[in-house]
Amino acid sequence: MKTFPMFLTMTDRRVVILGGGEQATQKCRLMLKTEAAIEVFAPTLDVELQALADAGRITHRTGPITARALQGAPLVFVGTGCPGIDAALHAVARDAGALVNVVDQPDLCDAITPAIVDRDPVVVAIGTEGTAPVLARQVKTALERMLDPRLGDLAALAGRLRDYAAQRLGPRQRRDLWRWVFNGPLRAQHAREGDAAVARAIKEVIRTGKVPAAAPAPVALVGAGPGSRDLITLRGVQRLQEADIIFYDRLVDPGVLELARRDAERVFVGKEPGCHAWPQDKINAVIVAAAKRGQRVVRLKCGDPGVFARGAEEADALRAAELEYEIVPGVTAASGAAAAVGGFLTERGKSDTLVLTTGRCADGNGVPDWVTHLTGRSNVAVYMGVAAAPKIADCLSRAGLLDQVELTAVSKAQHADQKVLRCAASDMVAELDRAGIESPAILFLSHRDTSTAEVSEPIPHLVAV
Ligand code: SAH
Repeated sequence: MKTFPMFLTMTDRRVVILGGGEQATQKCRLMLKTEAAIEVFAPTLDVELQALADAGRITHRTGPITARALQGAPLVFVGTGCPGIDAALHAVARDAGALVNVVDQPDLCDAITPAIVDRDPVVVAIGTEGTAPVLARQVKTALERMLDPRLGDLAALAGRLRDYAAQRLGPRQRRDLWRWVFNGPLRAQHAREGDAAVARAIKEVIRTGKVPAAAPAPVALVGAGPGSRDLITLRGVQRLQEADIIFYDRLVDPGVLELARRDAERVFVGKEPGCHAWPQDKINAVIVAAAKRGQRVVRLKCGDPGVFARGAEEADALRAAELEYEIVPGVTAASGAAAAVGGFLTERGKSDTLVLTTGRCADGNGVPDWVTHLTGRSNVAVYMGVAAAPKIADCLSRAGLLDQVELTAVSKAQHADQKVLRCAASDMVAELDRAGIESPAILFLSHRDTSTAEVSEPIPHLVAV
């Protein structure tokens, strides 16, 4: 971030606007939303500014614009309508120690005014660092639609009742109270009817201490998808935003975690390379403990929580503790990997059976089940297969299939550093190494005759090896 969004306290702050024409008027309108003390420096004012000066809403100054005259103003807007004069005034305002915003000259701005969604005191500021004002407006329009026009009134009402709630309720009850106010039917009622009826209901709950109990939210086992954060589902994002605590794995993309509330606790329960993994029992125990404390828990797993994710063990532990859970599906790595190389997991007439398996199945001396599928029209996707490649090749060899199978390997699918490899299974060990295919990767195996896992050429922006 080149710029950082912050909310400045404006009450009685001296804000100076240099210029008396339309540009200055626009900035003035914006500042009039605040409680700042606005001074406009200009020889003459346009009619709108003059009316504001006559009404005492702004102060008109006609004296010379010097660093001394601007001293103590934390924020100065420059908009005389003449870029040359603006640049000179920028220097003067800088000398005075102010943060300066020069209209239409982003290079001369210490402070950029964002696009604003105004439900005072709920205010959303949208900025693109000057790169895409049209996009900022689109985001603003989407948010305008999303936020009820009376939302600010409800927030203000909550603000007025905060002290009363703090006097009568404990922290836990207060949290439940505000959840009830903002999540439940009360918010919808406020949107329809406004303050009066809703205020009565909230005060009554605070007075009696009887906060309507929210049904305890089930623990959500959420699939984060295989990589980039736009591959999580909308339901997954919703659960993340509701969560008080999130237990996440190593392969979960950090971008996905950013979708959670900033104050949600994030607990890493994966395995860092070279360190001990959290034992599954311990993960189960911390999830159960958090849910029993009344926290809203999200267990965030890469891909889909139902595919090689030990989700069933966690669900068992929750059931044993008589806790509810829900599964929020995600895009599994095989889907992400196939899509990333323009391929399809099944294809009518070519691959009618899709096998999801793990390289760990290649342990032991027998031939795993999935090998028997490779003679048919099947697509076999091997998870956790890179380290097991020698064993996989060995299994194929023992089944007499090594020369008939093709491999498509996709590592870090749907990430910027994705890699793709295609080769004969007989070369896979050496080729995986040569191509630098590392875990996490999906190995697609298909019988050459049926070309079951045939994929088209990788899409050009992806790194193909
Ligand atoms: N629940 C996950 C799988 C977890 S097991 C899912 O549904 O996808 C971990 C394995 O998933 C890795 O060893 C790798 O085989 C695969 N995997 C996860 N993310 C991947 C990615 N971005 N690209 C390729 N494979 C991935």
